[in-house]
Amino acid sequence: MRYQNTYITLDPRLYHRQPPTPLKDPTPGHFNQQVADQLGFSNDDELMARWVEIIGGIYVPEGFEPLAMAYAGHQFGQWAGQLGDGRGLLMAQVLDDNDQLQDLHLKGIGLTPYSRMGDGRAVLRSTIREYLCGHAFRGLGVRASNALGFVVSETPVRRERMEAGAALMRVADSHIRLGHVEWITSYAPELLGEFTDYMIDTYYPECREQDQPIAAFLQAVVKRTARMIADWQLIGFAHGVMNTDNLSITGSTLDFGPFGFMERFNPGWINNHSDHTGRYAYQNQPAIGHWNLNVWLPHFMHLEGVTRETLAECLAPYEASFMQHYQQGLCRKLGIPHSSESLSLAFEFMTFVEDNTLDYTNSFRALLAVVASSNHPFETILLNTMQAELSAEALLIWQDWSSRYLDYLAQLARSTEQVVDDLKGNNPVYVLRNDMAQRAITAAEQGQFDEVARLYELLTSPYKVQDIATDLDTTPPAPDAPQMPISCSS
Ligand code: AMP
Ligand code: MG
Repeated sequence: MRYQNTYITLDPRLYHRQPPTPLKDPTPGHFNQQVADQLGFSNDDELMARWVEIIGGIYVPEGFEPLAMAYAGHQFGQWAGQLGDGRGLLMAQVLDDNDQLQDLHLKGIGLTPYSRMGDGRAVLRSTIREYLCGHAFRGLGVRASNALGFVVSETPVRRERMEAGAALMRVADSHIRLGHVEWITSYAPELLGEFTDYMIDTYYPECREQDQPIAAFLQAVVKRTARMIADWQLIGFAHGVMNTDNLSITGSTLDFGPFGFMERFNPGWINNHSDHTGRYAYQNQPAIGHWNLNVWLPHFMHLEGVTRETLAECLAPYEASFMQHYQQGLCRKLGIPHSSESLSLAFEFMTFVEDNTLDYTNSFRALLAVVASSNHPFETILLNTMQAELSAEALLIWQDWSSRYLDYLAQLARSTEQVVDDLKGNNPVYVLRNDMAQRAITAAEQGQFDEVARLYELLTSPYKVQDIATDLDTTPPAPDAPQMPISCSS
């Protein structure tokens, strides 16, 4: 691997150097060959032979320089003060096969000075969810952390019940969170200049070319965050805990915890069972992204030349960036060009899906059947691909909408093949539904990792129909089924 450990060159007040506390008798959970190849990990026989020891914290290869990062944050809208890596360590930074810097961060690996009341460990349940979701995002083409693999420990971990412990080697383009800056201005404001330079030089070097590099950097973070959240909305993803300590400065999805993929379409859907007020409900995510940036940006007023007006200009493009990316993405999901006519058709479709509590993912994918059907068996499409039986009135609405959609497609100078390609390339067949993840967890807790491996394969190519899939991979829960409780406990 091509090591480039630069975080450790920053002021030592920003982190604490320490080795991992090994897991007891770690055994393999799953290894991500794709990520190993990306990092150049797989070019080194010794690393490959000892991956379980590495992720178990037993063997620290030469070139790794482990440290726990200090950060702070706003949690559920409240200032939470100092947080930091309480159970994870930045092990190394490496250049990947694209010359992109990647952090290797080992999660679940013991106490650090930032552990507060925690035990420094992670449970197998949340480790598997994070592992599979990072991989799912890669397949979906949405920027996010991923992982090299995970291991399981003999030593149980206490949460609401005793659970198997595990460790995950997370890989992300950065582990700098909005909360890093919040920590600095509260606890070591004199470091803000150096740290801002580091963020720009490492992650936004193109901003150096601008007249005002700091303003250019801040605006770039704003736009990337808006774009990331637009991607979430498009794939029906709810992060669940968008605290400022869980948002990366690179606009890449980080900290997969009580997340979920929306099944029956309900914009107000709350996946995180611990989110009693619905602050992080699916439909609130774009506004929360704005809220987070709005509390983050004023910290930079500690820097010379950064004024309130500069910051207002940096934040201003958030909404337009979000809207543009979201609307374009939505039109692509329907295989139609971005225009106001296309958008009204798209919103009508979504209203239909919502009114009839149909499955978000399957409904978009069902458009393929509409386009491919020469004799328009709309009722069959609904029954077969949306798993829905509708009232006569709803059926009329659906028939009317489908006919107008087909007429609209006919007017466009696009071949059916082009439309079909768009529909197939923008509407996944498979997402990580909560009960899919849960089946893999239940089996893994019995020592069986086949289901993790199967889901890994399936989610490698989520836009392709696959033989290894079962009906359970695409079936949403019944409309009246109680929601699976997914909490912050991890
Ligand atoms: P999270 O809710 O997982 O984003 O974590 C919020 C903060 O709590 C971060 O500073 C974590 O490092 C810390 N934390 C979460 N779980 C644990 C744990 N089991 N032991 C120590 N620190 C933890
Ligand atoms: Mg976190």
